[in-house]
Amino acid sequence: ADRLITPARRAEDVDAALRPKTLDDFVGQKAARENLRIFIAAAKARGEALDHVLFFGPPGLGKTTLAQIVAKEMGVGFRATSGPVIAKSGDLAALLTNLDDGDVLFVDEIHRLNPAVEEILYPAMEDRALDLMIGEGPSARSVRIDLPRFTLVGATTRQGLLTTPLRDRFGIPVRLQFYSVAELEQVVSRAAGLLGLDMAADGAVEVARRSRGTPRIAGRLLRRVRDFAHAAGADRVDAKVADAALNRLEVDALGLDAMDRRYLMMIAEIYKGGPVGVETLAAGLSEPRDTVEEVIEPYLIQLGLIARTARGRCLNAPGWKHFGLNPPAGSQE
Ligand code: ADP
Repeated sequence: ADRLITPARRAEDVDAALRPKTLDDFVGQKAARENLRIFIAAAKARGEALDHVLFFGPPGLGKTTLAQIVAKEMGVGFRATSGPVIAKSGDLAALLTNLDDGDVLFVDEIHRLNPAVEEILYPAMEDRALDLMIGEGPSARSVRIDLPRFTLVGATTRQGLLTTPLRDRFGIPVRLQFYSVAELEQVVSRAAGLLGLDMAADGAVEVARRSRGTPRIAGRLLRRVRDFAHAAGADRVDAKVADAALNRLEVDALGLDAMDRRYLMMIAEIYKGGPVGVETLAAGLSEPRDTVEEVIEPYLIQLGLIARTARGRCLNAPGWKHFGLNPPAGSQE
C-alpha cells in the first residue's frame, strides 16, 4: 500500500544520507548499543570475528544501520543481501567464498531464506565450512570448503518466523524497540541539521510525536514538512508549521494515517470492538495479512489502542477514545 507512514522502505527514502555511522551517533536502543559495544570491544581484543548477530523488530528501527555500524566499528568490510534474493545454495556459496577475513555479511529478511539455502548456512555459521555436493548420481561426492572468518548479521521483522536451528546459531540476538518521543526528537533534529533545515525544538517534537516510534518515518515526515515549509515561505520550522504540514498529510496527533483509522474503525463499527480475526480484518482492508501484522498492528498495540487475543483483535478503551466513542456496554473492554 502506498502509505506515507509505512515503515517499510520506499524508493524515495534516501536512508543512506541520514544514517548514523558510529555507535555514538546512533540514537536510542540503549541496551542494544551498550551490549554491542562490549561484544565488539571483546572480539577486537581477542582478534576474532564478532559472533553472529540477529536484529529483530519492526521495519525502520535501524537494523540495517546497526549492521553497517557493526562492520565499521569492527573495522571490517560490509556485504549486504537479503533472504529472498539468495535463490540457490550456489548463490550463498558464491557470497561466502568471496568474503574477506572478518567481513560482515548482512542478510535482511533472513526469515525468507529458502530452506535448502538455510541448510548450508548452518555449517557455515558454526564451523566456517561449506559442504557442497559435486556431480550427480553415483559419482556425486561432497566436498568441504573452508571459509574465511565472518560475522553473519541477520535482520528480521518477526523473530517467530525463524526456524529454531537458525535462531540458535546467532550468539547475539538483539531486539529493537520503538523509539521514545525524546529519542525521535534527537533523530529529527540531527536529520534536520543534515538537510540544512532550520528546525525549532518544538517543531522537532511535533514531528517526533507523529512518527510512530520509527526513525525511518521521522525522516520521511521531515522531508515532507520541509516541502510544506518551503511552499509556505517559512524559514524556520516550528510546531505550528510542522502541525499544519502533518495535518495536510493526514497524519493525526498520534501519528496514525487513514489506513490505521480504517483498521480501527472496522473493529469499532463492524465488529463492535471485537474480537475479530486478523484474516477478516486483512480481507476487509484489502491488505495482505503480513502487512496487517507487521506494519499496521505493532504500533497500535504499542499505543494500547488494540489488543491481540487468542480469539482475535479487540479495541481497547483508548482506541474507542481516539475516535471520541464509548465502548459498547458489555463489550470486551
Ligand atoms: P531497518 O533496517 O530496521 O528497516 P534502517 O536501518 O534502514 O531500518 O533505518 C531506517 C532509517 O532510519 C535510516 O534512514 C536511518 O538513517 C534512520 N535511523 C534508524 N535508526 C536510527 C537512529 N537510531 N538514529 C538516527 N537515525 C536512525
